[in-house]
Amino acid sequence: MRVLLVEDEQPLARAVQRGLEAEGLLTDIEHDGRAGVNAGLTRMYDAIVLDIMLPGLNGYDVCKQLRAANVWTPVLMLSAKDGDYDQVDAFDLGADDYLVKPFSFPVLVARLRSLIRRGGIERPPVLVAGDLHLDPATRAVGRGTEVLDLTPREYGLLHYLMRNKGMVVSKLDILQNVWDSHHEGAENVVEVYVGYLRRKVDVPFGRHAIQTVRGAGYRVAGDGG
Ligand code: CA
Repeated sequence: MRVLLVEDEQPLARAVQRGLEAEGLLTDIEHDGRAGVNAGLTRMYDAIVLDIMLPGLNGYDVCKQLRAANVWTPVLMLSAKDGDYDQVDAFDLGADDYLVKPFSFPVLVARLRSLIRRGGIERPPVLVAGDLHLDPATRAVGRGTEVLDLTPREYGLLHYLMRNKGMVVSKLDILQNVWDSHHEGAENVVEVYVGYLRRKVDVPFGRHAIQTVRGAGYRVAGDGG
């Protein structure tokens, strides 16, 4: 069993490496994102442990680049919850599990073993609504041949709507699933982001994929609007 650990905090990386090797998991360490991508592309691992805040390239981008290159080694992300990025983003990006720092070492080992048992994941299918398409593996979003440049939050919102294509989702559903928030009264943030998304996904194309269902919520039209 061989694990790649991408972690820039060197004492932590060495402590985790010692612990994993004591568990029989041979562990290579890389200290920055680009080196992590290179290692993930050139060597075979049973699992990758990926810190999010890394020099060079953050953990999200490392995961995205590996998935884009068709590397489906299970990834466990280490997140220091900082508000902007959270577990939803980690899963959207193709991570298979995550742990919030500071984590307990036995929990890390148990999660890693379970990921290794499950083996490489399947490439998630591209979501399509008419000519609107979103690839969860690479986070690429487009309308026909046009590439759309979305922020992480806009991407999370569109991903959630497209996973529920044709169905109405309430603002509260969206808040809970995209913002991981149960904060009542925050629904206006959803309206604001739906507005941002429409300006990228619909308005330039004269389309109406993201529909408002009065009193109920939002729906992505199955035909792309
Ligand atoms: Ca870090």
